[in-house]
Amino acid sequence: MTPPPSDPPAANQSIIACGQSVDIGAPVVLWNDKGGFNCPNKRGRENCSQHDPVLDDQPTQPDAAYQILDPKVAYQELKKTVYQLILHYDVCYCSWQCHQIMKDSTFKGSQFYLDLDGTIYQTCDLYWKTNTGPSDDRIGNTRSVHVEMANLSWEALKEESDLYKVTKDQYRKINGQWQLILPQTYRDKLRTRDFKVIPARSHKQRGYFSRRINGAMVRMWDFTEEQYQSVIKLCRGIHRLLPKVKLRIPCDTKTHRIPLDRIRNFSRFAGVMGHCHIQQGTSDDLRPKYDPGSAFNWSRLRKAFLKETGKRRPS
Ligand SMILES: [Zn+2]
Repeated sequence: MTPPPSDPPAANQSIIACGQSVDIGAPVVLWNDKGGFNCPNKRGRENCSQHDPVLDDQPTQPDAAYQILDPKVAYQELKKTVYQLILHYDVCYCSWQCHQIMKDSTFKGSQFYLDLDGTIYQTCDLYWKTNTGPSDDRIGNTRSVHVEMANLSWEALKEESDLYKVTKDQYRKINGQWQLILPQTYRDKLRTRDFKVIPARSHKQRGYFSRRINGAMVRMWDFTEEQYQSVIKLCRGIHRLLPKVKLRIPCDTKTHRIPLDRIRNFSRFAGVMGHCHIQQGTSDDLRPKYDPGSAFNWSRLRKAFLKETGKRRPS
C-alpha cells in the first residue's frame, strides 16, 4: 500500500520580539524558516532607539540594514511602545498571494499573516514597524503590530468583485456545506495538504454575512475554524510578549455591544482591534477601512479573552 501523503513537519510554534520568544501553541513559520515570508518593507519605530534612525519612515533599505543594536534595551522600549494588535483581512486567496502583493509594493508589509489553514507567518521581528494601518491620526503603526488574515471578503462575490472580476461566487455549497473553491495555484501554497476551506459559520441560506461598517455594507463569508483558533492563540502570545496589548476588544460600556465603526478613543485603546476601529478615513489619501469585516466573530474573541482574564465583563 502507498502511504498516505504526509503534511509538512510540525512548524515552529513561537513568535519573536527582540529575540525573546513565546510558544503560542499554534503553527508559526518564521521569516527565516524554510517556506517563510520575509517582510519586504520594514520601518523603524520612532519611539525605539536601538536601530539606525535612517530606517524611520524612509524608503526600504537593504535587509542587512535592519539590525537591532541591543536586543535587551530594544525589548524594554518595545514593551512600552506597542499596545495595539490590529486585525485585518487581506482580500486574497491565501497568505502566499498576500505576500506577493506586499513584495510588489514599495511600502506595504505586516508582521503577521494568518493563512486559511491556521498557519501563522511571522515576517519580521516585532521590533520593526510596518505600514499596515496608519489609522485616522496617521501614527497608528508606531503603537501597533498587525495580522493580515486570509479572506477574499467582497471579492468572493460575483456581484461585488471589483479587483479580481470573478465570474462566479467563489464559495459554493457542497454536500450542504459552504466551501471556498480555491484555484489550484493557491491550494498548492497552503501548508496543509488538501485543506478544505470551510467558513466557521454560515449566515442563513446565502452563507455570507452582511453588515454596515464605517458607512459601507460589507458582504463576506466567514474565516475558517482554524483561523479563529490560531488568531486567539496569537493574541494570547502577543499579550505575553507585549503586556500592554491587553486581552480586550472595543465594547460599548453601557450596552456591552461590540462596535464595528471607528471608535472614539482609537489612539489610546490598549488591546485588540480591527482596522475598521482605527480608520474611518478622513481624506482622499486615507480611505475608510472595513476589515476584518462583517463576518468576523468578535464575540468569540471576547469570550476567549474573558475566560483568560477571569473577568466577567469587558473592562
Ligand atoms: Zn486592513
